[in-house]
Amino acid sequence: MNPVIALVGRPNVGKSTLFNRLTRSRDALVADFPGLTRDRKYGNGALGDKTYTVIDTGGISGDEDGIDAAMAEQSLLAIDEADIVLFMVDARAGLIAADEAIANHLRVNQKKTWLVVNKTDGLEEHSAMADFWQLGIGDPHPIAAAHGRNVTTLIDEVLAPF
Ligand code: GDP
Ligand code: MG
Repeated sequence: MNPVIALVGRPNVGKSTLFNRLTRSRDALVADFPGLTRDRKYGNGALGDKTYTVIDTGGISGDEDGIDAAMAEQSLLAIDEADIVLFMVDARAGLIAADEAIANHLRVNQKKTWLVVNKTDGLEEHSAMADFWQLGIGDPHPIAAAHGRNVTTLIDEVLAPF
């Protein structure tokens, strides 16, 4: 069985962009507006001789009602199905209240969770990471999904136990 990696986080942090990179597909819609991917989406990828499955989700806004509630439900199902959770936040937006709400959801689940700070292209990594420590999810891992910065290194580390 492939290890299953779930991508969660609020809309617009870059989950679909990372999904596309990890699966080398254009199947996940990448949007300039939040909330386009409303269902879970599955893809497979490989790194070296390891294969994995990735689940893209619509995202959790942290303040759920209506369509947001449905998206949050998909995210929770994806977390259930996953061996590994990549909790994505946006270095450009900085830490916002919705991220803290999601972190509270994630802290109670038993899945191995990695805090991934996306959109660090053009930013100084150290200062871009500083705020995110307070989420209490562990070390922030800087990446730029759109450019591939640190993505292979991260996935290599994530897959090490599998
Ligand atoms: P999702 O809602 O979490 O799936 O986010 P998307 O993957 O649809 O991306 C939202 C927006 O962020 C799009 O305009 C992407 O091009 C942009 N984006 C994604 N990754 C990066 C990145 O590494 N750097 C920058 N600067 N923008 C990114
Ligand atoms: Mg998306």
